[in-house]
Amino acid sequence: MKKNIIVMKFGGTSVGSVEKIKRVADRAIKSKNEGNNVVVTVSAMGNTTDDLIELACAVSKNPPKREMDMLLSTGEQVSTALLAIAIAEKGKKAVSLTGYQAGIFTDDIFSDAKILTIKKDRIFAEFEKDNIVIVAGFQGITNNNDITTLGRGGSDTTAVAIAATLNAKYCEIFTDVDGVFTTDPNIVENAKKINVLSYDEMLELASSGTKVLHLRAVEFAKTHGVIIHVRSSFNNNEGTWVMDTEKLNKKMEKAVVAGVSYDTNQVKISVFGIPDRPGIAAKLFSELANAHINIDLIVQNVGEKGIAAISFTIKKEDLEAGKKVVKDLKEKLEITNIEIDTEIAKLSIVGAGMKSHPGVAATMFSCLGNNGINIEMISTSPIIISCVIRQERIKEAVKLLHDEFELGK
Ligand code: ADP
Ligand code: ASP
Ligand code: MG
Repeated sequence: MKKNIIVMKFGGTSVGSVEKIKRVADRAIKSKNEGNNVVVTVSAMGNTTDDLIELACAVSKNPPKREMDMLLSTGEQVSTALLAIAIAEKGKKAVSLTGYQAGIFTDDIFSDAKILTIKKDRIFAEFEKDNIVIVAGFQGITNNNDITTLGRGGSDTTAVAIAATLNAKYCEIFTDVDGVFTTDPNIVENAKKINVLSYDEMLELASSGTKVLHLRAVEFAKTHGVIIHVRSSFNNNEGTWVMDTEKLNKKMEKAVVAGVSYDTNQVKISVFGIPDRPGIAAKLFSELANAHINIDLIVQNVGEKGIAAISFTIKKEDLEAGKKVVKDLKEKLEITNIEIDTEIAKLSIVGAGMKSHPGVAATMFSCLGNNGINIEMISTSPIIISCVIRQERIKEAVKLLHDEFELGK
């Protein structure tokens, strides 16, 4: 009989010590003993990636991105090898592979590379040898043999992409919480674990800051129909299933608001004095796109005499590059003033049921307004409403909305 393939991914906290690595080894062996072919993807131990970034920043304020990927990929190489050693110590066969050895090919956008293809021959050859296959998360290789990384939190994407390529039964994401909650359980005590989420809801949660799953991992899962099970690496409880919920139960009631998320890793750039003419926004945003900067929220205000101001938010790590693009366009776009605001945060509510329930936005805005929290930018789509507020009030705002929509009940 053909064996099932299971992909298991363990995050940084789950492999943060020798003891924890030994426990991960036990879990992988258990799944193998149940008759599965097992691939394990691991992140770097604990805060290794942060420490490596700090090290590079001590050497240079602006380290070349290619070299950063060379450096950061070493974190996952350590945990992968240690896990293979731990499994061997327990008398089972395992092999560790870098992204390159596992055949994970990416584009050449260093620090934010996209997986293009995974060549499965090596992994299948290792299954034939009865090995548990351990693949370094977060990294890949370009066609020119340069090492790339997939963006912070990218090991989830490695795991789901492997699961998609190998047609795995499902992809288990083991982390330091019991699953995906109605909001971050580390800041709201009565946050509740969600049992099942649709791909679209999880996409919106991930894109709005719920870092328990990397956005690209969810995109991969949706495109290829990979079933994800997010669960704790510290217990055997059932976690959260992320899947095509339409197939599961057509009559399932869709939550109006499934969760509240927040993102404090954003900054706002505002440009003032630009002429309100066709083509100006296109010029600004195409130059930002050429610099591989993803834009999140955008607001344009038109004042008197056809003079406009545009504000947009980007990731903190793109700030230097974003500033450069805007400064380079200063003359061409007749920009009179540029302002940078690093003290913002994005607050979002997500739920598939919002489509058919009017008034959700009004409830959200009234709740914030009644508590004296000013809304600075807004964006909406059928299943998500986001606003930008002051960062110092974000935790309070998350708790207020979690209560307002009765998510703890
Ligand atoms: P890992 O190292 O396992 O990849 P991450 O730190 O990337 O783990 O993601 C897990 C963390 O995500 C949790 O510790 C939690 O603080 C945070 N988080 C934020 N929002 C949520 C949410 N809605 N549900 C679960 N965890 C969340
Ligand atoms: N080690 C990488 C990071 O800290 C990738 C990951 O953990 O998924 O971002
Ligand atoms: Mg993560």
